[in-house]
Amino acid sequence: MYYPEPIERLIENLTKLPGIGRKTATRLTFFLLNSKRHYISELAQSLLDIRERIMLCSVCFNITDVDPCMICRDERRDKSTLFVVEESSHMMVVESSNPGVYRYHILHGVINPIEGIGPEEIKINELKERILKEGIKEIIIATNPNIEGNTTAHYINELIKPLGVSVTRIASGVPIGGDIIYIDPLTIKSSIENRRKL
Ligand SMILES: [Zn+2]
Repeated sequence: MYYPEPIERLIENLTKLPGIGRKTATRLTFFLLNSKRHYISELAQSLLDIRERIMLCSVCFNITDVDPCMICRDERRDKSTLFVVEESSHMMVVESSNPGVYRYHILHGVINPIEGIGPEEIKINELKERILKEGIKEIIIATNPNIEGNTTAHYINELIKPLGVSVTRIASGVPIGGDIIYIDPLTIKSSIENRRKL
């Protein structure tokens, strides 16, 4: 028993989204079926817009609708430091913790030999070029504290350090408001290594 073709087609397209199974897709489809025409056209147009109006900033590779992006255009930000992150979404997290302070470089991934992702597949060479061109003095690496994130941070360090640039990486440890009893041994180990004077 199948629904009419347009309904089936929408269900099928929605199940291609991450985390959406047929059940949820069917529920969403019937929600849309009962929605106002204005909302449907607004939704359809916003889907097209992310394809047609969103690009990567030619400087930092952030997702943007103007090039260079608003962050790269912001003259008040520190010009000598670059914050290096894996994805635009990670940049947003750092930005919300320190609004208007840093300039960024988005790698769009991490080195992952098992999946065939080498340094050429992500924006590492572009990072080096930027450092030379913009006279960057310090980079802060905020890749995730896992094997791929560590590999990528070490690779960048080897590449950038000879340029006389200070390379640091954000610390990993006990989360604020957390409880030591729930922290895994590796995180505790890292917290101890990254301890500082009171
Ligand atoms: Zn930018």
